[in-house]
Amino acid sequence: MSVHPNLENALKHHFGYDSFRSPQREIIVEALENRDLLVIMPTGGGKSLCFQLPALMKEGLTVVVSPLIALMQDQVDGLRKNGIPATFLNSSVSPHKVRMREQAILAGKVKLLYVAPERLLSERFLPLLDLVHHQIGISAFAIDEAHCVSEWGHDFRPEYRQMISLRQRYPNVPIWALTATATERVRLDIIKQLGLKQPNVHIASFNRQNLYYEVRPKKKNSYVELLGLIQDNEGSGIIYCLTRKKVEELAFKLQHDKISALPYHAGLSDVERSENQTKFIRDDARIIVATIAFGMGINKPDVRFVVHYDISRNLESYYQESGRAGRDGESSRCMLFLSYSDVKTIEWLIDQKSNEQEQMIAKHQLRQMIDYAEGTDCRRAIQLSYFGERFTGNCGNCDNCNNPKPVEDWTIEAMKFLSCVARCKQRFGMKHIIDVLRGSKTQKVLSKGHDKLSTYGIGKDRTLDEWRMLGRSLLHQGLLEQTTDGYAVLKLNAFSLEVMKKQRSVSVVVPAKEKVAWKGRSEKAEQADILFQKLRELRKQLADAQSVPPYVIFGDSTLRLMTQMKPKTKQEFSQLAGVGSHKLTQYGDKFIAVIKAYLQEQSPQKQKYADQKGDISYTELQTFELHKEGLSIKEIAQQRNLRSTTITRHLSDLIEKDKPVDLNLLVTTDKQKKIIQVLDILGDISLTPIKEYLGDDYSFDEIRLVRGKWRKKTNKVKK
Ligand code: ADP
Ligand code: ZN
Repeated sequence: MSVHPNLENALKHHFGYDSFRSPQREIIVEALENRDLLVIMPTGGGKSLCFQLPALMKEGLTVVVSPLIALMQDQVDGLRKNGIPATFLNSSVSPHKVRMREQAILAGKVKLLYVAPERLLSERFLPLLDLVHHQIGISAFAIDEAHCVSEWGHDFRPEYRQMISLRQRYPNVPIWALTATATERVRLDIIKQLGLKQPNVHIASFNRQNLYYEVRPKKKNSYVELLGLIQDNEGSGIIYCLTRKKVEELAFKLQHDKISALPYHAGLSDVERSENQTKFIRDDARIIVATIAFGMGINKPDVRFVVHYDISRNLESYYQESGRAGRDGESSRCMLFLSYSDVKTIEWLIDQKSNEQEQMIAKHQLRQMIDYAEGTDCRRAIQLSYFGERFTGNCGNCDNCNNPKPVEDWTIEAMKFLSCVARCKQRFGMKHIIDVLRGSKTQKVLSKGHDKLSTYGIGKDRTLDEWRMLGRSLLHQGLLEQTTDGYAVLKLNAFSLEVMKKQRSVSVVVPAKEKVAWKGRSEKAEQADILFQKLRELRKQLADAQSVPPYVIFGDSTLRLMTQMKPKTKQEFSQLAGVGSHKLTQYGDKFIAVIKAYLQEQSPQKQKYADQKGDISYTELQTFELHKEGLSIKEIAQQRNLRSTTITRHLSDLIEKDKPVDLNLLVTTDKQKKIIQVLDILGDISLTPIKEYLGDDYSFDEIRLVRGKWRKKTNKVKK
């Protein structure tokens, strides 16, 4: 077997990357040996490179079959930005352009041709393909989204079935089939339907280590949580909702809260949909709120978060949809909000299916999805086990690993709950049982005379949510049952009786008491963000000028590297991962200029800072300068691109360090007095108990600022 030491060089030269991801290298080596291949890699795994690099290294034209027109355009745009001669032919291309492109192909000027299956196999196209084959050679057929060939897959395309004729017509041209989803059955089907000859099968791990998975209960204020998430995180995000109506509502609310968000669902006109999609891809809109109609054919690599505001129907869809985050390998978040009323909606939808078999499968899949959402094990382990991949767990990058939920003994509560089910003669659902336990005087409780039961009101010490949580947990642990006729009547089983006789104890996983706050970024990171923003702006300008999405100029990871390495010469710039020879010449100077300007801007201020002898940091100084100009905390935060709590912290530290910050502008004197009094009593303890003492009229920011003054005073006394 050949070693191909020049593969790394070719990778750097054409794509600017330094190393291959597993298992790209093996695949490419085999591709260069003219073998048939079946490649299964998760979204974002880097499938395209597996055929693009060999295409460049081999003689002749590589024909890429892709069912998604939008994707074709994207891939070709991306390749051209790397100076790679690629083109595409599909129904969106005018006849005139088609002819020009065909000529370029026959003149040997194109290395990669993207084409839709129906065109490839048309009467008109095949003769052209024959000509290419004889005159310049076809180096390979790459079949993207190869699962479309199988009826067992989730988006079967009949046109893919005709592809076998490629093998018959060009028996010696290798065929490379690639897909992100393929069960065993679909795999075999792909091999058969495409007529692959002893293909090497490569299955990459489906673990996407850069994605942080998290599930939160959906509550009344979840919208605020969502808004916070969007405000605290940078970059693009997708928010999935179950219905068009919810999409519309949420997009509207976000717009109202000054978030650039657009809706996407099947109810919009084609024009509107594609406009919104383009705006999202080009970073003209930050957020897309969508039904699951959105996503197929989008390969925006820099989606930083995917939120499922409503639960998915099954784990496979969840994996694919959430997997649209972080295709570029940069860390990204996937969050799911779990609400049982959404589950009910999906159940209702499933009940509308006429086929009973389908209904059963769908319900089973939904159950698995709920188990994932309620699960207390590593999220990644649950997902991967679903795909038959063993993962030992403890990934360190999901909520359950980072923040394990405590388990409590709720045997007594379980006994109360189950005996209440028994007293109500196993004829009622969860809500009614809880009403009885909590001593509610609902119409139903009174009319059934359930206020006379011995279990009436014995559960007042627990909240409605707590009882619900217990009820669900009993159901999941199989200690209680529920009818599936739509009424969800609770029924006891043998295990319930064991619990009631205290022969079996019951543990439930309770939500962690203290919500771990969204990890704030360090100040150093926020500083780096200023340069990052400037580089993003330049990228956006260049992209707009060429009508391409920004990420085809440079990915986020490459911009991040620029902020870290701050290259000042072309030589330094060329070292960055993501900078190939073509992009170096095209954009190097422009980006270097921005970096240099940034560095210069920094230095005089730094000088000034050095002149101010004293113990304040550079970033505090910047805040201080703006405060002296009379800007409010909010304005300073905006201007500096920092959060207002950070600014408050600066100001409070400045006050403590005896710098002339005008506290009276920030907190009324009355409030100052009161806060000082409380601090005198409680001392320098953490802010939360101080705030509890002062009540809701006082904000953390106000307390923090006055504490600066108080500390200054007490420090002086100490000295
Ligand atoms: P897929 O088609 O498997 O979903 P892509 O081929 O679109 O994935 O690749 C996803 C992202 O990873 C792209 O932004 C691509 O440029 C990047 N990528 C691929 N291979 C490498 C590599 N070896 N090093 C760095 N980035 C890579
Ligand atoms: Zn984990």
